[in-house]
Amino acid sequence: MIEFDNVSKNFGDTRVLTGVTGEVNRGEIFTVIGPSGAGKSTLLRLIDLLDVPAGGAIRINGLDIHADKEKSLSVRRMMGMVFQKPAVFNTTVTENVAVGLRFRGVSKSETRKLTEDALAMVGLAGYGERRARTLSGGEMQRVALARAMVIEPEILLLDEPTANLDPVSVAMIEDLVVRINRDLGTTVIFSTHDMYQGQRLAHRIGVLMDGAFAQVGTPREVFTLPASREVARFVGIEN
Ligand code: ATP
Ligand code: MG
Repeated sequence: MIEFDNVSKNFGDTRVLTGVTGEVNRGEIFTVIGPSGAGKSTLLRLIDLLDVPAGGAIRINGLDIHADKEKSLSVRRMMGMVFQKPAVFNTTVTENVAVGLRFRGVSKSETRKLTEDALAMVGLAGYGERRARTLSGGEMQRVALARAMVIEPEILLLDEPTANLDPVSVAMIEDLVVRINRDLGTTVIFSTHDMYQGQRLAHRIGVLMDGAFAQVGTPREVFTLPASREVARFVGIEN
């Protein structure tokens, strides 16, 4: 459903992605693992239409999402994204979660109900009137997740959503991601530099190294049959 076709991206002279090729299937949890600076955030930002590739294409259901601005808006509407750094607006928790529903013409009463449900799902029932910026990092990240989820996206993009969180918050977010995927059939792309997290969550893993996928496969394949010495070293099974 999401197809990367030789995607490249540079920032000035820095070549970050040199030729990413691979596919994410509908309804799967696909984790992008790779060392810091490998380009995981860059790749997710390209999918979320926050930036444009230098070459190649990303196709969603056959549509080159960067080719046609108008059509890409409809693609954007089916995606929710949670950023690596917790990002909340300086308003109440409820306002933060409801913002995506505003643009979709959802009624006030329906918005209230959906927002409350989403907050309950992330374990923040009763937090609605709090100022979002007074929350802890883990709580803010869960607000961001509730905001991404409340629109029931077909595709959920999560950029290291558990970086810098305590183990309890990490487990809670991981559990949520699994439930969203299982119960709603949401396609999830989850980036992490933590290969164990990749292994725990993924149906399939893409190992991003040196600007491209060094391997795409099931956790079992990647961890027992690494495609190269570099992948083996990264997943820690080479002595
Ligand atoms: P991490 O695990 O640390 O989050 P990452 O895999 O997400 O790393 P990116 O944030 O995608 O890596 O960055 C890849 C490379 O591109 C890095 O060398 C980074 O410095 C560079 N880079 C990213 N965004 C920009 C930008 N806007 N301008 C210049 N360089 C950038
Ligand atoms: Mg990153």
